[in-house]
Amino acid sequence: MKAVLFRQHGGPEVLEYADFPVPEPKPGEALIHLHAAALNRMDLMVRNGWPGLRLELPHINGADGAGEVAAFGGGTSQAETGELKIGDHVVINANLGCGICEFCLAGKDNMCRDWHLLGETVRGTYAEYVCVPIKQVYRLPDDFDFHQAAAAALVYQTAWHSLVKRGCLQKGETVLIVGAGGGVNTASVQIAKWIGAQVVVVGSDSKKLAMAESLGADILIDRSKVEDWSKAVFVATNKRGLDVVVDNVGTTFMQSLRALRKGGRLLTVGNSGAPKFEIDNRYLFAKHLSIIGSTMSTLSEFREVMDLIVAGALKPVIDQTYPLEEAAGAQERLWRNENFGKITLDIH
Ligand SMILES: [Zn+2]
Repeated sequence: MKAVLFRQHGGPEVLEYADFPVPEPKPGEALIHLHAAALNRMDLMVRNGWPGLRLELPHINGADGAGEVAAFGGGTSQAETGELKIGDHVVINANLGCGICEFCLAGKDNMCRDWHLLGETVRGTYAEYVCVPIKQVYRLPDDFDFHQAAAAALVYQTAWHSLVKRGCLQKGETVLIVGAGGGVNTASVQIAKWIGAQVVVVGSDSKKLAMAESLGADILIDRSKVEDWSKAVFVATNKRGLDVVVDNVGTTFMQSLRALRKGGRLLTVGNSGAPKFEIDNRYLFAKHLSIIGSTMSTLSEFREVMDLIVAGALKPVIDQTYPLEEAAGAQERLWRNENFGKITLDIH
Protein backbone atom coordinates (compact mmCIF):
# COMPACT_ATOMS: atom_id res chain seq x y z
CA MET A 1 0.00 0.00 0.00
CA LYS A 2 0.97 3.66 -0.21
CA ALA A 3 1.55 5.48 3.07
CA VAL A 4 3.15 8.64 4.38
CA LEU A 5 5.72 7.49 6.91
CA PHE A 6 8.82 8.69 8.73
CA ARG A 7 11.96 6.74 9.59
CA GLN A 8 13.33 9.34 12.04
CA HIS A 9 11.86 12.26 13.99
CA GLY A 10 12.16 15.78 12.65
CA GLY A 11 10.44 18.47 10.60
CA PRO A 12 8.04 17.93 7.68
CA GLU A 13 11.02 16.91 5.49
CA VAL A 14 11.17 13.51 7.26
CA LEU A 15 7.77 12.52 5.81
CA GLU A 16 8.03 10.10 2.86
CA TYR A 17 5.28 8.94 0.51
CA ALA A 18 6.33 5.32 0.20
CA ASP A 19 5.28 1.68 -0.16
CA PHE A 20 4.55 -0.14 3.09
CA PRO A 21 3.08 -3.64 3.70
CA VAL A 22 -0.71 -3.76 4.17
CA PRO A 23 -1.23 -4.53 7.89
CA GLU A 24 -2.71 -7.92 8.82
CA PRO A 25 -5.84 -7.75 11.03
CA LYS A 26 -5.75 -9.87 14.19
CA PRO A 27 -8.81 -11.72 15.52
CA GLY A 28 -11.36 -9.08 16.58
CA GLU A 29 -9.87 -6.46 14.26
CA ALA A 30 -11.06 -4.93 11.00
CA LEU A 31 -8.84 -3.90 8.10
CA ILE A 32 -10.09 -0.52 6.88
CA HIS A 33 -9.49 0.72 3.33
CA LEU A 34 -9.18 4.44 4.06
CA HIS A 35 -10.55 7.16 1.78
CA ALA A 36 -9.96 10.15 4.06
CA ALA A 37 -7.75 11.02 7.01
CA ALA A 38 -7.71 14.20 9.09
CA LEU A 39 -4.80 16.00 10.72
CA ASN A 40 -4.42 16.77 14.41
CA ARG A 41 -1.80 18.82 16.25
CA MET A 42 -0.70 15.57 17.89
CA ASP A 43 0.62 14.41 14.47
CA LEU A 44 3.19 17.23 14.50
CA MET A 45 4.27 16.45 18.07
CA VAL A 46 4.71 12.74 17.27
CA ARG A 47 6.66 13.53 14.08
CA ASN A 48 8.92 15.92 16.02
CA GLY A 49 9.23 13.38 18.86
CA TRP A 50 9.75 14.01 22.57
CA PRO A 51 12.06 12.53 25.22
CA GLY A 52 10.77 9.10 26.21
CA LEU A 53 8.66 8.52 23.08
CA ARG A 54 9.58 5.07 21.76
CA LEU A 55 8.06 4.18 18.40
CA GLU A 56 8.56 1.21 16.14
CA LEU A 57 9.97 2.98 13.07
CA PRO A 58 8.98 3.65 10.40
CA HIS A 59 5.94 5.28 11.97
CA ILE A 60 2.72 6.42 10.30
CA ASN A 61 0.93 9.54 11.63
CA GLY A 62 -2.82 9.96 11.86
CA ALA A 63 -5.58 9.45 14.45
CA ASP A 64 -8.55 10.19 12.22
CA GLY A 65 -9.73 8.17 9.27
CA ALA A 66 -12.81 7.01 7.39
CA GLY A 67 -13.23 4.38 4.70
CA GLU A 68 -14.63 0.91 4.01
CA VAL A 69 -14.27 -2.37 5.88
CA ALA A 70 -11.96 -4.49 3.69
CA ALA A 71 -11.53 -7.60 5.87
CA PHE A 72 -11.81 -9.02 9.36
CA GLY A 73 -9.02 -10.83 11.16
CA GLY A 74 -9.08 -14.64 10.93
CA GLY A 75 -10.92 -16.19 13.88
CA THR A 76 -13.11 -13.11 14.45
CA SER A 77 -16.42 -14.26 15.91
CA GLN A 78 -19.92 -13.26 14.81
CA ALA A 79 -20.35 -11.67 18.25
CA GLU A 80 -17.39 -9.38 17.51
CA THR A 81 -18.45 -8.31 14.01
CA GLY A 82 -22.10 -7.85 15.03
CA GLU A 83 -23.95 -6.31 12.08
CA LEU A 84 -20.77 -4.92 10.51
CA LYS A 85 -20.06 -6.30 7.03
CA ILE A 86 -17.24 -6.14 4.47
CA GLY A 87 -17.80 -3.00 2.37
CA ASP A 88 -19.57 -1.03 5.12
CA HIS A 89 -18.55 2.61 5.38
CA VAL A 90 -17.00 3.45 8.73
CA VAL A 91 -15.19 6.15 10.71
CA ILE A 92 -12.51 5.27 13.27
CA ASN A 93 -12.44 6.17 16.96
CA ALA A 94 -8.72 6.67 17.76
CA ASN A 95 -9.19 6.27 21.53
CA LEU A 96 -7.76 2.77 22.12
CA GLY A 97 -8.76 1.30 25.50
CA CYS A 98 -7.54 -2.18 26.51
CA GLY A 99 -11.11 -3.33 27.18
CA ILE A 100 -10.20 -5.29 30.33
CA CYS A 101 -8.94 -2.84 32.98
CA GLU A 102 -11.16 -1.44 35.76
CA PHE A 103 -11.79 1.80 33.84
CA CYS A 104 -12.60 0.12 30.50
CA LEU A 105 -14.96 -2.30 32.28
CA ALA A 106 -16.68 0.72 33.90
CA GLY A 107 -17.17 2.27 30.44
CA LYS A 108 -14.50 4.91 31.04
CA ASP A 109 -12.13 3.66 28.36
CA ASN A 110 -10.53 7.10 27.82
CA MET A 111 -9.11 6.60 31.35
CA CYS A 112 -7.73 3.15 30.44
CA ARG A 113 -4.66 2.04 32.41
CA ASP A 114 -3.03 0.84 29.16
CA TRP A 115 -4.34 3.65 26.98
CA HIS A 116 -3.13 4.23 23.42
CA LEU A 117 -4.04 6.68 20.71
CA LEU A 118 -4.06 5.63 17.07
CA GLY A 119 -1.22 7.40 15.24
CA GLU A 120 0.61 8.22 18.47
CA THR A 121 2.10 4.96 19.74
CA VAL A 122 0.38 2.81 17.09
CA ARG A 123 0.70 3.29 13.29
CA GLY A 124 -2.11 5.54 12.07
CA THR A 125 -4.23 6.68 9.16
CA TYR A 126 -1.92 8.47 6.69
CA ALA A 127 -2.13 5.27 4.63
CA GLU A 128 -4.37 3.31 2.29
CA TYR A 129 -5.08 0.70 5.00
CA VAL A 130 -5.13 0.52 8.79
CA CYS A 131 -6.19 -2.19 11.28
CA VAL A 132 -8.27 -1.35 14.35
CA PRO A 133 -10.30 -3.36 16.88
CA ILE A 134 -13.88 -3.68 15.59
CA LYS A 135 -15.25 -1.83 18.65
CA GLN A 136 -13.34 1.24 17.41
CA VAL A 137 -15.43 1.73 14.26
CA TYR A 138 -18.72 3.55 13.80
CA ARG A 139 -20.82 2.56 10.80
CA LEU A 140 -21.69 5.49 8.53
CA PRO A 141 -24.62 5.83 6.12
CA ASP A 142 -23.41 4.92 2.60
CA ASP A 143 -23.90 8.47 1.33
CA PHE A 144 -22.09 10.21 4.19
CA ASP A 145 -18.91 12.06 3.16
CA PHE A 146 -15.69 10.32 4.30
CA HIS A 147 -13.90 13.65 4.82
CA GLN A 148 -16.68 15.02 7.04
CA ALA A 149 -16.54 11.84 9.11
CA ALA A 150 -12.73 11.81 9.42
CA ALA A 151 -12.75 15.52 10.31
CA ALA A 152 -15.25 14.90 13.10
CA ALA A 153 -14.01 11.84 14.94
CA LEU A 154 -11.28 13.06 17.29
CA VAL A 155 -12.27 16.68 17.89
CA TYR A 156 -16.01 16.23 18.37
CA GLN A 157 -15.64 13.40 20.87
CA THR A 158 -13.01 15.45 22.72
CA ALA A 159 -15.16 18.60 22.84
CA TRP A 160 -18.30 16.58 23.69
CA HIS A 161 -16.68 14.80 26.64
CA SER A 162 -15.21 18.06 27.93
CA LEU A 163 -18.24 20.36 27.51
CA VAL A 164 -21.12 17.97 28.07
CA LYS A 165 -19.84 15.23 30.38
CA ARG A 166 -17.06 16.89 32.37
CA GLY A 167 -18.11 20.54 32.18
CA CYS A 168 -21.88 19.92 32.43
CA LEU A 169 -22.53 22.97 30.22
CA GLN A 170 -26.20 23.97 30.53
CA LYS A 171 -28.67 25.77 28.31
CA GLY A 172 -28.55 29.52 29.02
CA GLU A 173 -24.98 29.48 30.42
CA THR A 174 -22.21 31.63 28.97
CA VAL A 175 -19.12 29.89 27.60
CA LEU A 176 -15.98 31.51 26.26
CA ILE A 177 -13.72 29.70 23.82
CA VAL A 178 -10.10 30.86 23.65
CA GLY A 179 -9.06 30.72 19.99
CA ALA A 180 -11.23 30.63 16.91
CA GLY A 181 -9.69 28.35 14.33
CA GLY A 182 -8.68 24.95 15.70
CA GLY A 183 -10.65 21.77 15.19
CA VAL A 184 -11.62 21.33 18.86
CA ASN A 185 -12.62 24.99 19.14
CA THR A 186 -14.87 24.97 16.05
CA ALA A 187 -16.48 21.77 17.40
CA SER A 188 -16.87 23.43 20.82
CA VAL A 189 -18.68 26.46 19.33
CA GLN A 190 -21.17 24.16 17.59
CA ILE A 191 -21.73 21.87 20.58
CA ALA A 192 -22.19 24.85 22.94
CA LYS A 193 -24.78 26.38 20.56
CA TRP A 194 -26.50 22.99 20.22
CA ILE A 195 -26.81 22.90 24.04
CA GLY A 196 -28.27 26.43 23.98
CA ALA A 197 -25.40 28.30 25.64
CA GLN A 198 -24.31 31.82 24.79
CA VAL A 199 -20.90 31.62 23.10
CA VAL A 200 -18.06 34.13 23.31
CA VAL A 201 -14.98 33.60 21.12
CA VAL A 202 -11.63 35.32 21.68
CA GLY A 203 -9.26 35.40 18.72
CA SER A 204 -6.74 37.55 16.93
CA ASP A 205 -7.61 36.92 13.29
CA SER A 206 -10.61 38.88 12.02
CA LYS A 207 -11.34 36.36 9.24
CA LYS A 208 -11.38 33.46 11.72
CA LEU A 209 -13.58 35.44 14.11
CA ALA A 210 -16.05 36.09 11.28
CA MET A 211 -16.07 32.37 10.55
CA ALA A 212 -16.69 31.60 14.24
CA GLU A 213 -19.63 33.99 14.06
CA SER A 214 -20.97 32.08 11.06
CA LEU A 215 -20.90 28.92 13.25
CA GLY A 216 -23.11 30.69 15.78
CA ALA A 217 -20.73 32.52 18.15
CA ASP A 218 -22.70 35.35 19.81
CA ILE A 219 -19.92 37.67 21.01
CA LEU A 220 -16.53 38.06 19.31
CA ILE A 221 -13.51 39.63 20.98
CA ASP A 222 -10.47 40.50 18.87
CA ARG A 223 -7.63 40.27 21.39
CA SER A 224 -5.34 42.28 19.12
CA LYS A 225 -7.66 45.26 19.64
CA VAL A 226 -8.10 45.13 23.42
CA GLU A 227 -5.47 45.55 26.10
CA ASP A 228 -6.71 42.64 28.23
CA TRP A 229 -9.47 40.39 26.90
CA SER A 230 -10.40 39.11 30.35
CA LYS A 231 -11.46 42.69 31.21
CA ALA A 232 -13.34 43.04 27.93
CA VAL A 233 -15.23 39.85 28.79
CA PHE A 234 -16.01 41.10 32.27
CA VAL A 235 -17.53 44.27 30.78
CA ALA A 236 -19.37 42.31 28.06
CA THR A 237 -21.03 40.13 30.75
CA ASN A 238 -22.18 43.12 32.81
CA LYS A 239 -19.36 42.51 35.37
CA ARG A 240 -20.67 39.04 36.20
CA GLY A 241 -18.06 36.87 34.47
CA LEU A 242 -18.56 33.66 32.53
CA ASP A 243 -19.93 30.31 33.62
CA VAL A 244 -17.41 28.29 31.58
CA VAL A 245 -14.16 28.93 29.70
CA VAL A 246 -12.71 26.44 27.18
CA ASP A 247 -8.95 27.05 27.23
CA ASN A 248 -6.81 24.70 25.15
CA VAL A 249 -3.98 27.21 24.87
CA GLY A 250 -2.64 26.92 28.44
CA THR A 251 -0.57 30.10 28.59
CA THR A 252 -3.84 32.07 28.74
CA PHE A 253 -5.06 30.36 31.95
CA MET A 254 -4.71 33.51 34.08
CA GLN A 255 -6.94 35.53 31.74
CA SER A 256 -9.39 32.62 31.66
CA LEU A 257 -9.51 32.43 35.46
CA ARG A 258 -10.08 36.20 35.65
CA ALA A 259 -12.90 36.02 33.10
CA LEU A 260 -14.86 33.37 35.06
CA ARG A 261 -17.68 34.16 37.47
CA LYS A 262 -17.52 32.88 41.04
CA GLY A 263 -17.92 29.10 40.91
CA GLY A 264 -17.02 29.02 37.20
CA ARG A 265 -15.37 26.10 35.38
CA LEU A 266 -12.26 26.16 33.22
CA LEU A 267 -12.21 23.23 30.76
CA THR A 268 -9.02 22.10 29.06
CA VAL A 269 -8.14 19.32 26.65
CA GLY A 270 -4.79 20.56 25.39
CA ASN A 271 -2.05 23.19 25.40
CA SER A 272 -1.44 24.69 21.98
CA GLY A 273 0.47 27.58 23.65
CA ALA A 274 2.83 25.80 26.05
CA PRO A 275 2.48 23.06 28.67
CA LYS A 276 4.01 25.00 31.58
CA PHE A 277 2.93 28.40 32.92
CA GLU A 278 2.14 30.13 36.21
CA ILE A 279 -1.28 30.67 37.75
CA ASP A 280 -2.27 32.68 40.82
CA ASN A 281 -3.82 30.22 43.28
CA ARG A 282 -5.77 33.04 45.00
CA TYR A 283 -8.14 33.21 42.03
CA LEU A 284 -8.89 29.50 42.38
CA PHE A 285 -10.00 29.43 46.00
CA ALA A 286 -11.33 32.95 46.41
CA LYS A 287 -13.57 32.58 43.32
CA HIS A 288 -14.49 28.91 44.00
CA LEU A 289 -13.18 27.94 40.54
CA SER A 290 -12.74 24.47 39.06
CA ILE A 291 -10.13 23.47 36.47
CA ILE A 292 -11.38 20.38 34.66
CA GLY A 293 -9.11 18.40 32.35
CA SER A 294 -9.93 15.50 30.05
CA THR A 295 -8.87 13.82 26.86
CA MET A 296 -10.90 12.04 24.17
CA SER A 297 -14.19 10.36 25.21
CA THR A 298 -15.72 7.01 26.04
CA LEU A 299 -16.89 4.58 23.34
CA SER A 300 -20.55 5.34 24.10
CA GLU A 301 -20.00 9.13 23.96
CA PHE A 302 -18.24 8.73 20.62
CA ARG A 303 -21.37 7.03 19.26
CA GLU A 304 -23.60 9.75 20.80
CA VAL A 305 -21.75 12.58 19.08
CA MET A 306 -21.30 10.73 15.77
CA ASP A 307 -25.09 10.12 15.72
CA LEU A 308 -25.56 13.92 15.89
CA ILE A 309 -23.02 14.47 13.10
CA VAL A 310 -24.62 11.88 10.83
CA ALA A 311 -28.02 13.47 11.56
CA GLY A 312 -26.62 16.87 10.49
CA ALA A 313 -27.12 18.52 13.90
CA LEU A 314 -23.36 19.21 14.08
CA LYS A 315 -21.36 19.95 10.92
CA PRO A 316 -17.57 19.51 10.92
CA VAL A 317 -15.73 22.42 9.32
CA ILE A 318 -13.22 21.35 6.68
CA ASP A 319 -10.51 23.90 6.02
CA GLN A 320 -8.70 22.29 3.11
CA THR A 321 -8.11 18.84 1.59
CA TYR A 322 -4.71 17.65 0.31
CA PRO A 323 -3.84 14.46 -1.58
CA LEU A 324 -2.21 11.90 0.76
CA GLU A 325 1.17 12.38 -0.94
CA GLU A 326 1.13 16.08 0.04
CA ALA A 327 0.77 15.38 3.78
CA ALA A 328 3.92 17.39 4.54
CA GLY A 329 2.36 20.54 3.05
CA ALA A 330 -0.84 19.86 4.97
CA GLN A 331 1.12 19.59 8.24
CA GLU A 332 2.92 22.87 7.46
CA ARG A 333 -0.42 24.64 7.11
CA LEU A 334 -1.52 23.28 10.50
CA TRP A 335 1.84 24.23 12.06
CA ARG A 336 1.42 27.83 10.85
CA ASN A 337 -2.14 27.94 12.29
CA GLU A 338 -3.48 28.99 8.90
CA ASN A 339 -6.44 26.63 9.09
CA PHE A 340 -9.99 27.28 10.19
CA GLY A 341 -11.37 23.85 11.04
CA LYS A 342 -9.91 20.54 9.94
CA ILE A 343 -7.34 19.74 7.28
CA THR A 344 -8.01 16.39 5.60
CA LEU A 345 -6.08 14.03 3.32
CA ASP A 346 -7.64 12.39 0.28
CA ILE A 347 -6.77 8.70 -0.06
CA HIS A 348 -7.74 6.40 -2.94
ZN1 LIG B 1 -8.36 -0.39 29.80
